[in-house]
Amino acid sequence: MELYKLQASELSQMLQNKDCSSVELTKSVLGRIDAKEDEIGAYLSVDREGALKKAAQVDERRAKGESLHPLAGIPVGIKDNICVREMPATCASKMLENFVPPYDATVIEKLNKTDCVYLGKLNMDEFAMGSSTENSAFKKTKNPFNTDYVPGGSSGGSAAAVAAGEAIVTLGSDTGGSIRQPAAYCGVVGLKPTYGSVSRYGLIAFASSLDQIGPIGRSVRDLAMTYSAICGRDPMDTTTVSREYPDFTKNLKSDVKGLKIGLPKEYFAEGVTADVKEAIMKVAKEYEKMGATLVDVSLPSTDYALSAYYIIASAEASSNLARFDGVKYGYRTESFGSLEELYENTRSEGFGNEVKRRIMLGTYVLSSGYYDAYYKKAKFTQQLIQQQYADAFTQCDLLLTPTTPDTAFKIGENESDPVKMYMNDLLTVMINIAGLPAISMPCGFDGKKLPIGCQLIGSKFSEQRLFDTANCYEQLVGGFDLSATLQ
Ligand code: GLN
Repeated sequence: MELYKLQASELSQMLQNKDCSSVELTKSVLGRIDAKEDEIGAYLSVDREGALKKAAQVDERRAKGESLHPLAGIPVGIKDNICVREMPATCASKMLENFVPPYDATVIEKLNKTDCVYLGKLNMDEFAMGSSTENSAFKKTKNPFNTDYVPGGSSGGSAAAVAAGEAIVTLGSDTGGSIRQPAAYCGVVGLKPTYGSVSRYGLIAFASSLDQIGPIGRSVRDLAMTYSAICGRDPMDTTTVSREYPDFTKNLKSDVKGLKIGLPKEYFAEGVTADVKEAIMKVAKEYEKMGATLVDVSLPSTDYALSAYYIIASAEASSNLARFDGVKYGYRTESFGSLEELYENTRSEGFGNEVKRRIMLGTYVLSSGYYDAYYKKAKFTQQLIQQQYADAFTQCDLLLTPTTPDTAFKIGENESDPVKMYMNDLLTVMINIAGLPAISMPCGFDGKKLPIGCQLIGSKFSEQRLFDTANCYEQLVGGFDLSATLQ
């Protein structure tokens, strides 16, 4: 058995039993990267030397009998908008092409304590804006199930790497679906955590009130293991919440008896394909057979969620991205005669089209005269949505929905139609607007043999229940099927 094919939890056991070493495992994954990268293009940079050095250190400490964290020696990939000291953090933008952060994001500081091995930085849509990873300034990542198709986005590199065996687990970020949608398109599992449970310090900001870092893996246990390592209150991010964060793997159950699962009718409406609906309903029926009750619920403001999201996210992005002006750090134009020209040329040359579109949209909705008509209304809609979820959770314990209306689309298919591209986020953005946690897990394939994603949405800080429920399905189907991409 090739080591790169295994899950973090299995490998952790093997490392502990000395059935393999971290150097062997890291070499196996690096070998896989060599074999697959030309085809998949998941990475923007690979730190071969650093990874092998760290793996050797972990092996040495294990040989001395030190007791190590379950993630010790496990090769992990990081999305390129998360700062890892002395590794590039380009955000897939020309603007940050040569930026090497001198510090670690809090999630990285936390992972450092686990002694995991960093493989490198993963491709994404520029500044995490997009749904296909086609907005990267450097390369296009391909879907490992069919390389004519996109891997989803913006964490397309993070999802493709896990599906193709080029990483065991990865970190992504999710502002409106960027962990769950690529996880769905690539047949892997992804968690968008409760807002405030994972620190954003060192995550290059897109929309600060929505952004959240989370894990992508091949099993629910791997997700729980990685989430347990990165969550928690951080004094460097005042939006993080102080509370008990248990080890989510310790109590991982696979039992849904007595659970009330809500099916929001708006999530099965027009636009969701028959293949997707059928696959999700099949999962619902399986849960019912295992002792859960299905409840019909309604979230009437679903129709307005996408508009509200693109207004709020763009407004925040326009403000966050104001710092890239050619003065402080990052790209600076070669040709300018005045300060104004320095700003203008730097930003015109440094940002790609989608980022510019968001900055213009965001600036517009925040400008006086339009603020009340757009931004204020979007914030009002956000409150409505939050209230509707709260109402839904008085009738059920969690919600079961599709992650995306359809499976992956072809590379280039939506590039010239931004609104069609935005429609991919129809079923994921509401969760960020409400600050809730959600998991996307694979639940079969469509007629094109592309994976379908099923989304479980919980109330705030109900990650344990989401893990338990997803794990229950994973156990039932005997693990998620990646036989097509891991051979
Ligand atoms: N696709 C969405 C967007 O373009 C979500 C992006 C994200 O979650 N980072 O905004």
